[in-house]
Formats: sequence, C-alpha cells, structure tokens
Amino acid sequence: MTDFTMKIDADGVATITWDVAGKSMNVLSLQGWEDLESCIDMALADDAVKGIVITSGKDTFAGGMDLNIIAKMKASAGDNPAKGLMDGLMKSHGILRKIERAGMDPKTNKGGKPIAAALPGTALGIGLEIPLACHRIFAADNPKAKIGLPEIMVGIFPGMGGTTRLVRKLGAMAASPLLLEGKLNNPQKAKAAGVIDEVVDADEVVAKAKEWVLSEPKIVKPWDEKGYKMPGGAPYHPAGFMTFVGASAMVNGKTQGVYPAAKALLSAVYEGAMVPFDTAIKIEARWFTSVLLNPSSEAMIRSLFINKEALEKGANRPDVADQKVSQVGIIGAGMMGAGIALVSALAGIKVVLIDAKQEAADKGKDYTAAYMDKGIARKKATPEKKEAILGLINATTDYDALKDCDLIVEAVFEDVGVKADVTAKVQAVTGPDCIFATNTSTLPITELAKASNDAEKFIGIHFFSPVDKMMLVEIIKGAQTGDVAVAKALDFVRQIRKTPIVVNDERFFYANRCIIPYINEGIRMVKEGVEPALIENAAKLVGMPLGPLQLTDETSIDLGVKIAKATKAAMGDAYDDAQDEVLFWMFDEGRLGRKSNSGFYAYDDKGKRQGLWEGLSAKYSAADEQPDLIDVQHRLLFAQTLEAVRALEENVLEDIREGDVGAILGWGFAPWSGGPFSWLDIIGTPYAAERCDQLAETYGERFKTPALLREMADKTQSFYGRFGTKANAA
Ligand code: NAD
Repeated sequence: MTDFTMKIDADGVATITWDVAGKSMNVLSLQGWEDLESCIDMALADDAVKGIVITSGKDTFAGGMDLNIIAKMKASAGDNPAKGLMDGLMKSHGILRKIERAGMDPKTNKGGKPIAAALPGTALGIGLEIPLACHRIFAADNPKAKIGLPEIMVGIFPGMGGTTRLVRKLGAMAASPLLLEGKLNNPQKAKAAGVIDEVVDADEVVAKAKEWVLSEPKIVKPWDEKGYKMPGGAPYHPAGFMTFVGASAMVNGKTQGVYPAAKALLSAVYEGAMVPFDTAIKIEARWFTSVLLNPSSEAMIRSLFINKEALEKGANRPDVADQKVSQVGIIGAGMMGAGIALVSALAGIKVVLIDAKQEAADKGKDYTAAYMDKGIARKKATPEKKEAILGLINATTDYDALKDCDLIVEAVFEDVGVKADVTAKVQAVTGPDCIFATNTSTLPITELAKASNDAEKFIGIHFFSPVDKMMLVEIIKGAQTGDVAVAKALDFVRQIRKTPIVVNDERFFYANRCIIPYINEGIRMVKEGVEPALIENAAKLVGMPLGPLQLTDETSIDLGVKIAKATKAAMGDAYDDAQDEVLFWMFDEGRLGRKSNSGFYAYDDKGKRQGLWEGLSAKYSAADEQPDLIDVQHRLLFAQTLEAVRALEENVLEDIREGDVGAILGWGFAPWSGGPFSWLDIIGTPYAAERCDQLAETYGERFKTPALLREMADKTQSFYGRFGTKANAA
C-alpha cells in the first residue's frame, strides 16, 4: 500500500490521491515523498496525461509532516546531521520544484502540464506547501477546514518552500502574519488572503480542478518569469524597506529575541527576496537546517508537539476500559465551576450545575450564554448552536439531579469543611461507580478524600483560570486513588480537548508549586533593592510571558497573602518569609492587583496597565549597585526549575514529559526552552549544578543543588537521556 496512488481518466487527467492507510489525517513520511515523486514522474512522462490533480482520499488534505522525517534526515549523514538535513531538504525541494516546473522548458517556459491541488478540507504545514508548488489551489467550501502554516508554533518555520513561495505569492507584508504567527484560516478567508485560488462546493472540488487543468491555463509561476517583482516591494525598495524594518522590530518585540525560528524565518525571507527563486530555496533550506539543529527548536518540537500529543492520547493512562463521561455534575457555579460547565457543554457532555442558591447556579450558566453570544457576534456560532449548548446545562440547587452523573467536579469554596459537606451530600445521591473529583488548588487530595465513601474513586482535577483558555489540566492522585478514577479524569480531559498531566499529591501539586517560587523570587528582589524594571524585563527577556510582579497583579495580591499565611501555618519554622514584607505592605496599602486597578503596576481608569507603580521604588529604593541581568534571570528560572527537579525527586512527577509540557501550558515557562527539564538539558547538568552552587552561596539555600541534579551533573547525564525511556517508548 502506498501513500499516493494515481488514476488516469479518459480525458487525460491524472488524479493523484493521498491516502495514508490507518491514519485519520494524512501526514507526510519519507516513503510518502517517494510515492509522490514517482506518481509525478509517471504522469509527466505519460503522453496520454494532459494535466494532473493532487487530492486526498480523506475529508481533509493533510495535517502536516511526520516530524520523525527530521530525525531520519539528521541521522542519514552519520555524524554530520547538518549535511543529512540539508541534503534531505534539497531532495524534497527537488520534488516540489518538479511539480512547479511540470516539465516546462527551463529557458522558454514553454510546455509543461498544469497541476492543480484539490483540497477537500484542512491543509496544514507540508499539506499547504505541496499545494503552493502546484499551479492552482482549489478548496472545498468547508468553514471548519483550516488552511495555513502553523510551524512557528512548535519552534520551526515553513521550511519546505512554504516561506519562499508564500512571500513571493503575497509579498512579505501580507505573508508575515501567516508565517510569523502561524495564523490559520478557513477556505474563504484563505482565498481572501490570497493563499489559495478557488473555493468551490465540496462535492465539486476535484471536478473543478480537472476542468481547470484541461482548460490550457497559463502555468508559469510569476517568479519564474522575467521581470518578476515581489508584491509590496523587495527589501531594497522603499516600500519593502519599511516592511522589513517594521517586521524585524515586531518580531523582536514579540519574541524578545529568544525564539531562533522567528529570526531565522525573517532572515530567510529577507535574504531570499534578493535572489532568484532557486537560490532563495537554498537559503530557506540553510536557515531551516540551522533552526532544526538549534537545541531550542528540538526541545520545543519535543514538548509542544510530540510529547503534548502523546499525553493527550493517553501515554500515561492506566489500562482500563473506556471511561468517557456522559453526564458531569459540577458543584459550585462560581468562576471555575462556570468555566468547567462551559467547556463540558461545548464538548457535548450533559451538565448538572449546582450552587447553594438558584441565582448563583443561573449566573454560572449565564457564563456559557455570554460566551456563545460573543461567538455569535464573531460569526463563529449560531443562535441554534447556543440554544443546543445551553440545553445541555441544567442549573439547579437540587442534588437529586446528580443521580445519573458518572463524574462530579467539585468547585466550591476552598475550605475543607465546606468541601467535606458537599462530598457527603453528593455521594448520598450518586451511584457507586461515580467518580468524585475536586478542583482544589491547595488542599491535599488525600485529606479531602477522607470525606468520601470511596477514596479509590476520589481524585483531583485541577483546572487553570480562565478555564476556556487554559489548555492544561492537572490530574492529582491521592494516596488511595484507583486506576479507574485516573482513566475517568483522563478520558474527560480528552473529551474537552485539553492536555492532561497526572501527578501525585504533595503541597501545591506541580504547577503552583513551581510558579509560587518564581513570584516570590521576584518580590524578594524588590525588597533587596533590585530595580523592579530590571526584574520584569529580565523575566521577559528570558522568555517568560509575564514578569513576576505583573503575574502577581494578575492573580491578585490578596491571593498571595492568603497562600503565604496558609503555607506559613502549615510549614512552621521551615517557612521562608522573605517576600512577605513587600506582599503584606502592598495588601495593607489596598493595592490588590489588576482587580483593584492598583498593584505593582499603575492602571488607568479603564483598567489599562501603565508603568510600574512609582510608590514601590519610593518605599523600596533601588540599591546603588544592580545585579547582572543573567543573575536576575537565573534566579527567576532556577526558582521554578529546582522546584520541578524536587517534584521529580519526590515522585510528584512520574514523567519528565509531563513536567515540561505542564510547565509551558500551565504557567508559560519560557516556551523556547521546551520546559524546565529541557532547559537543564540545554545548559547541561554540570553547568546547572555549578550555577546553583554559586546562587546558593550568594542568595541562599533555596538554590542548593538537589541531590538528583548533583548526581546527574557528576555523571554528565541529561534528563531526557536518563528519564526519557518512558518518553522514548511512547
Ligand atoms: P468562587 O468563589 O468564584 O466560586 C465558588 C462557588 O461555590 C460560589 O458560587 C459559591 O456560591 C459556591 N458554593 C460555596 N459553597 C457551596 C455549597 N456548599 N454548595 C454549593 N455551592 C457552593 O471560587 P472559584 O474561584 O471558582 O474556586 C472554586 C474552587 O476552584 C476552589 O477550590 C479553588 O481553590 C479552585 N480553583 C480556583 C482557581 C482560580 O483561579 N480561581 C484555579 C484553580 C482552582
């Protein structure tokens, strides 16, 4: 069975159909490349063939490239991975160029056979790069289909000609958002943007493409004709100059210079724009090779693509029968409960949403109504869809309504007594197979499970706020939680299309355990006299989405105070209170963060964040001597990373993939690094241990090298080398 098959009809049209056996969506493998090339060779050599249509045997065209291709290319030239990659890429370019030139005379551009792409649905990555090499792209009018080049999202860029062709087709300005942001469009929008050429009825897409190839169309690409000018101007043209200066500033502003792929992409665009097409392709391949060899790209692909997908597919799911949720009961219709009800209903799950008062339950349901209204205003939903989704949510105060639920998610106040009371009330109604989950962010699961009549069926399902936007869900096993409960939680997370990690029960679980030290490190630096602007910029320059002070404003100062007090009460003398003075002073000043329009930052009347609040520097004046940027950055990164290492040592984390994926999706740990464990592998464990020793000596014991890291440094081991077995086996 080959991935591409060809049929020639009586009219002389060769239809090449891409249909990878056993996959719901086509992905391109090395074998696929060979199959495609041999079909193209046969069609071009066959005098009976007048034109070619490339389409798919599925309802989508293709989801992208099998990223294992990259590993295979790297390995193909022995100890010279750059050569293996460059050779592999240029071979792929040869196939695409063969499609584009289609047998035309290289000098006169005469002859050649028209080749059209007919896309029945979604076409992503290489799934769009192949069509871009064709002479015309037809897409079925399917509003759900997504068309685009999302490579930048996983730390690479479109390196199979997509960058060079899109820029030459649309101009650098119009191509920029598609390339730099990985923006995906439905077919109508993709046509309006100039990415594809025709949108036709779904059942006609191949027929229209055939009609076109038989119409003797002009097939020479503009860039293969004499006198080609790039739309919007080449870089040395005044208009082009403005574009490139602007794009360069924009990229650096957005990425703070930490993402190699964005810079490499811009370089490929800029340098490629100044030379003929075939040279531009070589430049693109060189930059792509350099990105693929950059450890950051490798780590991002591993965490954001391969491992994220593996976790979503249940890499750590216990081997028990399907536990799909048919009806979920959500107790507490506040901020979290309302969000959980929304994402459940959007996934088609029936919801019983309970609160102490009917108004509160209704208010929780209104959150879904408001969400759908926004969707209707943006033409992403219809009033019928809204009614259908709302019809799935039963907002009530009546616990009897829970009797047919197979999963409960409790999201009432963060109070052991209230939660225990609710657990008993729920379990008086639900059946013996119902799984009970709590959304607590701070209370131990094992402790809360004591209120349950079956601790095996009790588990933590910890969502992040806002529930509809945050993709991570942290599943927490209590001491007695059983496999069925874990499988239930994982199957639920899969239904609502989020990414799960499964961790064991320790204070603050995993995500909060790591993010709190980051916040605390930032605040204690204020007290030490480090310039607040240095703290915030150091964080952003190392790839954190928010500086620690801004993050505190967003999550609120009173929450910080509450957590500080509770942690102190629990830890006693072991509690390190260095950040509390600043935090409590802010609280006493009534500066509670964004919600009070005043915090570490100043805000205008409309809530727009202004600069850092001047009163902060007035109270905590800056020391005469400021630390080096790298010291501030390492303090902020190691504060989180060492906590992740300790979580692994203590078996809170059982799989470093979850540690890395959870860190990026849960709190935005510098995504360019691939996560805390990937970061330690990038800098190397010996250097990491040496830095921790220095930081511990200068700033305190909290940076003390954990025993595991010390041992790995002594043996020059990497985390993925040592703990990757589980990851490698998947
Ligand atoms: P919230 O105050 O917005 O909502 C709590 C809701 O529970 C309220 O509507 C309240 O009326 C209801 N409630 C209280 N006691 C009840 C009872 N006995 N029976 C029925 N309903 C009752 O709080 P929230 O921010 O949604 O947090 C809820 C839970 O989620 C807490 O355990 C919290 O720690 C956890 N959590 C919060 C966040 C966050 O960012 N806010 C993130 C993750 C987890």
